[in-house]
Amino acid sequence: MANQENDTIIELKAVSKRYGFGDAESYALRNFDLTVKRGEFIMIMGPSGCGKTTLLNIIGLLDQASSGEYYLAGKNVARVSARKKARFRAKEIGFIFQNFNLVPTLSILENVSLPLIYSGYHKTRRLNMADSILEHFHLREREYYMPYQLSGGQQQRVAIARSLIASPSIILADEPTGNLDSRNSHIIMEELQEIHSLGNTIIMVTHNPALTTYATRVINMLDGEIDTDIKTVDDSDLPRGGKGEKVSVKVLSTRNPIKMEVDSESEVVVSGDKVSAEKKKTEEKASKETKKSKETKEEEPKTRKRSLKPRKKAKKESKK
Ligand code: ADP
Ligand code: MG
Repeated sequence: MANQENDTIIELKAVSKRYGFGDAESYALRNFDLTVKRGEFIMIMGPSGCGKTTLLNIIGLLDQASSGEYYLAGKNVARVSARKKARFRAKEIGFIFQNFNLVPTLSILENVSLPLIYSGYHKTRRLNMADSILEHFHLREREYYMPYQLSGGQQQRVAIARSLIASPSIILADEPTGNLDSRNSHIIMEELQEIHSLGNTIIMVTHNPALTTYATRVINMLDGEIDTDIKTVDDSDLPRGGKGEKVSVKVLSTRNPIKMEVDSESEVVVSGDKVSAEKKKTEEKASKETKKSKETKEEEPKTRKRSLKPRKKAKKESKK
């Protein structure tokens, strides 16, 4: 059994977020305490304006609390420099937003590779990694498209690919299905469920009570505070990738379909020995495919087949 004490990944202590002063003073978060274990899938609900986005932005280091303590993976990050925060964010946190937030002037491939900017990898390597992960999401034939050329569901899958590419330990999603129809919502939730089953920590804001069946814990907020907090899965039953370490989608090569694997040892879990050698081939192939797919009619894959084998293996390994 993994060491429970080391399994805390997020700890907020008496975090408040205040706007305005004097008469105009108001609190988006009020003395907020929250402890999150690795492998939790938390859904946050509550009326509009109760502080859900503020909470997510503070956890994701996009916003700063007015007071209180914040420990992320054991580090006090409440008052580190903006530069360090940006690095930490790029490495540890993947974001998914309601409106997808893809950069409109960049191709799908470039969008997905963006979080790797701090990885130290050469651009070619970054694009190859993006290519691999897009293949996993059945979006490779769209990788040279611009965001506006994709449907909402496709754009959100691109955003999920982008959120995963730097192998973060935490995925934060602010109403990720808010702009999608129920079919696409379902697809997105299936993706998130798979990511969670590998041991990743997910915190998601939603208005849709039906989606809480995917969660291991449901928090209801009211006026910047926790109203109710219910765990539906015991901490000891949370999925984990062995040793309570970080777990990620692993990009193995640009040629083979992406394999979902647990890697609890290394920080950077994207290995691409073959990547450089195959770079030209892949790029040529990809551009041909793009041309082809532009000529032929656009078609959504009807069934989203995925090899379950590596997943089972991953689960087995995590039990060891
Ligand atoms: P939710 O996501 O639950 O709808 P938010 O976190 O966006 O809520 O907002 C919480 C409260 O903080 C709201 O009352 C909102 O008006 C207020 N708020 C958010 N951002 C700002 C801001 N930049 N300036 C002033 N008030 C803000
Ligand atoms: Mg919000």
